[in-house]
Amino acid sequence: MNTARKVDWIKIFVTEGLDGDPSRMQFTETDIVATVEEATASGIPVQAHALGDEGAQAAIRAGVRSIEHGSYMTDTTLAIMNGKGVYEPYRDRGRASYVSQATAACS
Ligand SMILES: [Zn+2]
Repeated sequence: MNTARKVDWIKIFVTEGLDGDPSRMQFTETDIVATVEEATASGIPVQAHALGDEGAQAAIRAGVRSIEHGSYMTDTTLAIMNGKGVYEPYRDRGRASYVSQATAACS
C-alpha cells in the first residue's frame, strides 16, 4: 500500500460495479481485513466500493469507515452500518430518500 502519497482515504473495490456482477466480491474478507489493518496502521481510513449485500457486510466486519454505492444492500446491513457508525455518503440506486445516521454525520 503506497501511503507516501499522503492520501486522505483508501478505496477498495470490494464488489464489481454495475457493468459487471455487483454481487460478486473481488476480494476475500481476509484481504479486506488486511487492507483495513495496513491502512489503519498508517492512520488512513478505508472506504469500500460495495454494491452487493455480501460484500458490504464483509467490508463492514473488516472495519471500513464508509460504504460507497450500496445499491443492493438490505435493511439489515443498513442497520449494522448505523450501529457501527459506518458512513454511506450516497447511493447509486433506490432508497433515494434514505438518509442514514452516518450520512447525516457527514453533512
Ligand atoms: Zn465506487
